Amino acid sequence: MYRITEECVSCGTCHSVCPAKAIKIGFPYVITNKCTDCGRCAEVCPVDAIVPGDEKKDT
Ligand code: SF4
Ligand code: SF4
Repeated sequence: MYRITEECVSCGTCHSVCPAKAIKIGFPYVITNKCTDCGRCAEVCPVDAIVPGDEKKDT
């Protein structure tokens, strides 16, 4: 599951591209356990704030 680091500037781009609607709006944005590891959000983030995480489930 991917996660969002403190680099996030809350631009909303990842939220609009996530096919699983796994990203919650906030400061910073948060990826929930609906994430299917497609990697799309990481590709579009303008500040590279989205990184691959471990398999443990965060809520
Ligand atoms: Fe959504 Fe894919 Fe990013 Fe997971 S990796 S949060 S499913 S866009
Ligand atoms: Fe934050 Fe990157 Fe998502 Fe924008 S695309 S809201 S900077 S994680």
